[in-house]
Amino acid sequence: MISIAEAIQIVKEHASQLPTERVSLDTSLGRILAQDIVADSDLPPFDRSQMDGYAVRASDSHNAPVRLRIVGESSAGKGWHQEMHEGEAVRIMTGAPVPVGADAVQQVELAHELKDNTVVELLESVEEGRSIVRRAAEVSEGQTVLRAGVTINAAILAVLASFGYAEVEVGTRPRVGVLATGSELVAVDQKPGQDQIRDSNNYSIGAYAQNAGAFVTQLPLTGDEISDLKKQISKAAETCDVIVTSGGVSMGVYDFTKTALTELGAELFFERVALRPGKPTVFARLPQGTLVFGLPGNPVSVSVTFNLFARTALLAMQGANNPALKTETGVLAKAVKGAKERDSYLPAQLTTNDDGQLIVFPLKWGGSSDFIAFARATALAIIPAGTKTLDADSLVKFVRLPE
Ligand code: AMP
Ligand code: MG
Repeated sequence: MISIAEAIQIVKEHASQLPTERVSLDTSLGRILAQDIVADSDLPPFDRSQMDGYAVRASDSHNAPVRLRIVGESSAGKGWHQEMHEGEAVRIMTGAPVPVGADAVQQVELAHELKDNTVVELLESVEEGRSIVRRAAEVSEGQTVLRAGVTINAAILAVLASFGYAEVEVGTRPRVGVLATGSELVAVDQKPGQDQIRDSNNYSIGAYAQNAGAFVTQLPLTGDEISDLKKQISKAAETCDVIVTSGGVSMGVYDFTKTALTELGAELFFERVALRPGKPTVFARLPQGTLVFGLPGNPVSVSVTFNLFARTALLAMQGANNPALKTETGVLAKAVKGAKERDSYLPAQLTTNDDGQLIVFPLKWGGSSDFIAFARATALAIIPAGTKTLDADSLVKFVRLPE
């Protein structure tokens, strides 16, 4: 049995980054940036007014109220490109270039125009530099503004657009095959017969994988029959970068996933992790190069093990900087019991108290098959191995559950 940290390390070592691809900016939301982004221009590209008002020389305003002659107008997209002199002002709009000779902008609310709009009276003085964002104050041309490995969100899209990245290099989305095993399983549109249940794992795994950026294919439900299992896995290996199976990895007489993998020539990297729930998690690689995660069948174990291990692999394959779930710390709302040899990852809800502290509220649940209770979880509270009881109000580590 290996530790969770070791297992995650092994996953990262074997989940190599896929070749990257170039996509249009319009379709890049949520993808992982695979190139550093360099500014192709200064930002702002000129001294820019931050206000509607008057570009002036600050020294002209010191004895305000003062009157200055209006010599021109600079608006966004249409600047006034002469030199402004002492005693003069240029009417200016937000986003417009500040003319040469001006060193401050007095806002429109502190001025008014006189004499058929040929003169402006400044009601108050203005100090040098006021309401001007200097050229390159935000970014200089040639500066690296983003590094590869970040997930493209709305704000990053704006940065990419600003610097002309109509297309951008991103991590390729891994192709994931999802394979539920178990002779008791029937499809969602079937009424379970005697001794049967509906498959739910394919849906949770498929959704988590999709949210981690993967293209998901649901493979046919497969019974506990070794030849069927081998057939489905080797067929899926032809087109998938990753296969995620559920069920059939425990010690039962009909748990065939590991045997199937071994008979197909797979290399098993680990098969038991010191984790509750989710001990019998398998990570392997088929001769074709396809990675396989053999998750236990229990729906809660599936969520925990998928997000700790398979999700990490999918993000690493897309080149993400920090592919593993991030551990945070909060305050435990209720005492919980730990396990002897394994770290427990227990379903919990995150809230905030009046002091702004993160509160980790463990959910009442009936074990690794209680996925109804689990549906309310937003986090997993981590109780280290060997902890008898972690008391209420203790600090507790947790990970947020992905959507
Ligand atoms: P196993 O790991 O195959 O021993 O399965 C453990 C438990 O999870 C059993 O109660 C199974 O019926 C249940 N289970 C296995 N696969 C699924 C699935 N795809 N959807 C829902 N429950 C499942
Ligand atoms: Mg089974």
